[in-house]
Amino acid sequence: MAAHMLPDAHSAGRELLDVLRSVVPPAAAPVALHEPQFDDRDAELVLDCLRSTFVSSVGKYVDRLETMLAEYTGARHAVVVASGTAALHIAMKMAGVQQNDEVLIPALCFVATANSVAHCGAVPHFVDSDASTLGMDPEALAAHLAAIGEISTGELRNRHTGRRIAAIVPMHTYGHPVRLSTLLEVAARFRVPVVEDAAESLGSSYEGKHTGTFGLLGTLSFNGNKVITTGGGGAILTDDRNLARHAKHVTTTAKRAHRWEFFHDEIAYNYRMPNLNAALGCSQMERLDGLLIAKRELAEHYRRAFAHVRTMKFIAEPAGTRSNYWLSTVRLTRSDFALRDALLTLANEAGYQCRPTWTLLHKLPMFSLAPRAAVPVAESLEASLINLPSSPKLGVALRSAHQ
Ligand SMILES: *Cc1c(COP(=O)(O)O)cnc(C)c1O
Repeated sequence: MAAHMLPDAHSAGRELLDVLRSVVPPAAAPVALHEPQFDDRDAELVLDCLRSTFVSSVGKYVDRLETMLAEYTGARHAVVVASGTAALHIAMKMAGVQQNDEVLIPALCFVATANSVAHCGAVPHFVDSDASTLGMDPEALAAHLAAIGEISTGELRNRHTGRRIAAIVPMHTYGHPVRLSTLLEVAARFRVPVVEDAAESLGSSYEGKHTGTFGLLGTLSFNGNKVITTGGGGAILTDDRNLARHAKHVTTTAKRAHRWEFFHDEIAYNYRMPNLNAALGCSQMERLDGLLIAKRELAEHYRRAFAHVRTMKFIAEPAGTRSNYWLSTVRLTRSDFALRDALLTLANEAGYQCRPTWTLLHKLPMFSLAPRAAVPVAESLEASLINLPSSPKLGVALRSAHQ
């Protein structure tokens, strides 16, 4: 171990490596943070799509995946698109976000959420997180809006900037659902629509209802590191038929249906998910339940192993929710960047791909001037969260080892 390490970094480092080695045998190293899983069924559907020659914008797999996602999540409609970022961009537009509006998002979030706000010509406005869910804190949000918001002619405005606050976008961090019922109450009180960024929470539910189906719209991502993958892709979920129809229209160049004519009726996007990617999505969806069981088993092993560790605590699913445990995460009992980084160095050198959480969004150069609330909890989480290797295959390996 490096000689410059602080004494408690030394003992915390030993504790972390002991747990990692007890859950994932060192023989398995190097161990990735999150790997996708493929089998013959994926190859079969992708090959079938290739042979059909319908690899691009139309085909049966696009429709099939949309049906599977709607059935699985309980949303009335699902529209698949090229990425989770594209899904967020269009969902925000469908919720009414316009040029020069503000959109409330957590400061502790992946950059894509803030980028999507900017893609609408709007400005992200950062709010604090809740230490128990790692997501947007509804009470802190309410207090902030009471302090900076004013409702005039039915719309909420930021009294400091004069801009309209057009949407609230909670994100279910690492798969753990935020406190949705309180959050929806706050949003209704301030008359702002909710768009859920459920990119990380396919398979997670709050009081028995799937995440991404509580707001006016919700979004998913099927990037290669997510619970299931289409290589790259995303989806918009909504119960509103007109919003779903409009989302499909603007993500497919706003072409009016006609046998031969090219008539487009608004400025739109080529955000469609290719049929080739959708084929992979269908086989991945068939396997989703098994992936979730494996990830849950892995999380349960981590939880038990960390129960005896003084220097860090495993992040368990919030009460009343079922998490997909997309990424298993521990929080250091002391928020300290030097300690966090010493542990990350140690774990990565031992072949365990552990990662910090995201740099808070207002610390990134392009968002440094964006409006924000005080974010003490997000600041503390930033210096204390560590993501652990979370691939489903690690859970499967544990199951066979314990049989
Ligand atoms: C992955 C992710 C996205 C974006 O998804 P892409 O498919 O990579 O564009 C958006 N928000 C969050 C929180 C994510 O984790």
